[in-house]
Amino acid sequence: MKHQPVPFSRFDLIRPAIRRMQGYVPGEQPGELRGYIKINSNENPYPPSPRVLQALQQAVGQDLHKLTDLRLYPSPTAEDLREKAATVYDLEPNQILLGNGSDDLLTMLMRTCVDPCDRVAYPVPTYSLYDILVAMQDGQAVHVPWPEDFSLPVQQLVESHAKLVFVANPNAPFGNFTPLDQLEALAKQTRSILVVDEAYVDFAEASALPLIHTYPHVVILRTFSKSFSLAGMRIGMAFGQPELLAELMKVKDSYNLNRLSIVAAVAALEDYDWMRGNVEKICATRSRLSDALSELGYLVYPSQANFVVARMDGVSQQPMYEWLKAHKILVRDFSAPDLADCLRISIGTDDEIDQLLAVMQQFQRRPV
Ligand code: PMP
Repeated sequence: MKHQPVPFSRFDLIRPAIRRMQGYVPGEQPGELRGYIKINSNENPYPPSPRVLQALQQAVGQDLHKLTDLRLYPSPTAEDLREKAATVYDLEPNQILLGNGSDDLLTMLMRTCVDPCDRVAYPVPTYSLYDILVAMQDGQAVHVPWPEDFSLPVQQLVESHAKLVFVANPNAPFGNFTPLDQLEALAKQTRSILVVDEAYVDFAEASALPLIHTYPHVVILRTFSKSFSLAGMRIGMAFGQPELLAELMKVKDSYNLNRLSIVAAVAALEDYDWMRGNVEKICATRSRLSDALSELGYLVYPSQANFVVARMDGVSQQPMYEWLKAHKILVRDFSAPDLADCLRISIGTDDEIDQLLAVMQQFQRRPV
């Protein structure tokens, strides 16, 4: 017999900052994934390199000795991956810190730098998790609106006197790309730690990685969730100067990457060309989708990421979202009133995008 749960009531024991905040709302995960076209969470529509599967099979497969390794904790620094990444990105291993997804690295940055009331600044709109992490620290988010031309508001970010400044590049949700000279101008002037969140950079024209060699207060974040098709494995990387990363290391969970994630990420880096091939396909589909959405009457923001935002000025996209969902296509809609006329669409396979466009056309042609 199951026990009747007694409701929890001691909310006075919960930190007020946590009581006040809302948790992160992830892209919808349909209960039964099969049959849905899932283009709502900026995942990669193509599978990871076959070498990842081989390496995972070898790690757990028939070999009992390997399997028994799972008894043991993983390397606290994910050393095999650190060394592999150092070779691929032409860095020293101590310039790399690994995370359980880049979300984990964002959390470490916050824990390390942000006391109650400390400021954290970023141009908005951007990745909504930043607000939540600031709230968790009881910090103060300084929102600097992107100007219409999406040029980086360098002066306002400098004048925010924040502990941390985040720039997602390319940015979510619009996919806008900040050229490196603007990021360097910010790096030069700011007294904050500048975090360039490059979750989507493999789909873009350039990376700000070289900045870490000149500016010791710059941290670059990367993820295996997007271009490497490994969102399910939870692997992120921070690139920066060893002295700064050593401080972040103090607040990380002791064994934040599991053994299998490390194996998968090393194998993915060994087949870098596989990732580049998928990125090329996605960028080609992105430009085809953008053109087709424009033909349907949408304003499509130029994107250097693996998603696009389509806007129908002043027209709520909720009915379109519902229509697509009824046809088993999941895109991301926005609850924020100023983005209610937008849809964000992750780039799927060509076939998925053809189906999306056909269903959107049906919506527009339906009798009303
Ligand atoms: N940064 C940005 C800008 C993102 O959009 C995301 C994914 N939602 C992340 C970081 C986190 O990625 P992950 O934790 O999967 O590495």
